[in-house]
Amino acid sequence: MYNFNFHSPGTLDEAINLYNNSEDPKFLAGGMTLLASMKQRLISPSDLIDLRNISNLSEVSLNDKVLKIGSLCSHFKLSRNEIINDKIKNLAKLADGIGDPAVRKMGTIGGSIANSDPAADWPAAILALKSQIITNSRIISNKDFFTGMFETLLEDNEIITSIEIEIPDYFNYKKLPNPASRYAIVGVAIAKYGNNVNVAISGASHTPFIAETISDYLSNNFSNDFPEKTIAKDDLNEDIHASAEYRVNLIDVLTKQIINES
Ligand SMILES: Cc1cc2nc3c(=O)[nH]c(=O)nc-3n(C[C@H](O)[C@H](O)[C@H](O)COP(=O)(O)OP(=O)(O)OC[C@H]3O[C@@H](n4cnc5c(N)ncnc54)[C@H](O)[C@@H]3O)c2cc1C
Repeated sequence: MYNFNFHSPGTLDEAINLYNNSEDPKFLAGGMTLLASMKQRLISPSDLIDLRNISNLSEVSLNDKVLKIGSLCSHFKLSRNEIINDKIKNLAKLADGIGDPAVRKMGTIGGSIANSDPAADWPAAILALKSQIITNSRIISNKDFFTGMFETLLEDNEIITSIEIEIPDYFNYKKLPNPASRYAIVGVAIAKYGNNVNVAISGASHTPFIAETISDYLSNNFSNDFPEKTIAKDDLNEDIHASAEYRVNLIDVLTKQIINES
């Protein structure tokens, strides 16, 4: 590791001020991606601005049918949260399936979506669910947020404060995890609001995406006879973990598993 300045602001304004007055700063949540990247010298920020002492960023609340999750909530905390277990049980299960116990204790939902790793689990769930990302300066629709591999609509000096999710009638997420990291080789998230069904995919492409054809079909007929292999394999990742063709098949298999469980 090399030298850098460490700051621990108590308010959002202080954090933004520190950011704007530093040479090459980075916000720090649980450090699960950031610190590993620094150790490998992939990035070398001049200043780390720790968000963990800012109050109100680690709370979960329910207002009518809208669940509000503070961006600094850890995966572990979300997996055990009573409201989430009561209202969207499979979202708690998603959190419980991330990485290992150490990653779940430190890693945060805000860090996960800000990082926009194509194989991460939260982005698919956020995309499938009716949701919005709240920052210190604006509200961003889930559909606009993920703009590419490790890229989002966030400005450099913008902080995610919470994620708001409309409680669905049904939600589930299934993945084939990489046996070492537990990142998704392919993950499928399905959210159902009345007849409206959104199917979002992680792990399969450079960015999470909505499987439009499957979503449309399931919105009309929520059954296992949806048209198979509708995602073009040319659009999917091909790597040492799985071929694109295998990923196309996994999308169908995981979707069927979710429908069977619903
Ligand atoms: C071994 C290992 C296994 C993992 N397995 C999985 C897995 O199975 N599934 C999965 O989904 N993920 C997995 N992860 C990712 C992990 O769950 C974390 O969510 C992810 O690494 C982000 O970590 P963090 O929250 O600590 O954020 P950090 O590492 O602190 O930050 C990551 C990035 O987000 C920015 N950032 C953080 N918080 C905010 C905020 N509130 N507003 C704006 N920007 C912000 C930071 O500046 C930084 O650029 C794994 C990670 C590891 C190390």
